[in-house]
Amino acid sequence: MKIEVVGSGNSWTKRLSTSYIVDDHILIDLPQGSFKTLFVSKKLENVDTVIITHYHSDHWADFHLFVETLKHKNFLKKIKLFAPEGFWQKYDCLTSALSIKHNFEFAKQHVSYSQLYNGKIFKIANLKFTTYEVLHIESSFGFVIDDGKQKIGFSGDTAMCDSLLKIIKKSNHVFIDVSSADLSKKHLSVNEALNLKKEFENVSFCAVHYSNSVAPLLKGKFRLAHDGETFVF
Ligand SMILES: [Zn+2]
Repeated sequence: MKIEVVGSGNSWTKRLSTSYIVDDHILIDLPQGSFKTLFVSKKLENVDTVIITHYHSDHWADFHLFVETLKHKNFLKKIKLFAPEGFWQKYDCLTSALSIKHNFEFAKQHVSYSQLYNGKIFKIANLKFTTYEVLHIESSFGFVIDDGKQKIGFSGDTAMCDSLLKIIKKSNHVFIDVSSADLSKKHLSVNEALNLKKEFENVSFCAVHYSNSVAPLLKGKFRLAHDGETFVF
């Protein structure tokens, strides 16, 4: 399985906010500001599936630009979208606020939406996704992706919770939210991440969504993902 880290940061870094491309065609999250990099690098052209982990702006705000690209590039294929409940209602509000109702109408025709929920299992090509509701805002999700050889975990944005532990226990490698230097109700802290690494010594961890203040605290102790880095498992 090939995982490209498009962005590794949270909103308050020069780095792009956290998102990934899996096996060149599955995009996980479309944070504000990430579209430019994806567009210029032509990485969107093979994307046929988009997964939105939750509705914070640093996870889906550029989705409308992706839809606009489908329209202008005349990619008349249908895009599969997996997102939390209420997608069309939220997208209606977003496109109204941005005065791009034509975009909403185009998306209605070219995007096939499937709702995420805790325990949902779905297949994309040869990959099996298992969905876990994590502790962040209402309807926030993490995943384990299984290609039959490796199981790769994605925490999504989350504080410490049972679902996160389940993701780690089922995975060989985990991309994990380490946003906070200190204890937080919405993200993992540096100490929590270091403790997980000690507790699950057979799992390889990679920090994402990390702030600039977190990076020096993890340096030398915990693997950090970087923008544009590709992992092959
Ligand atoms: Zn968030």
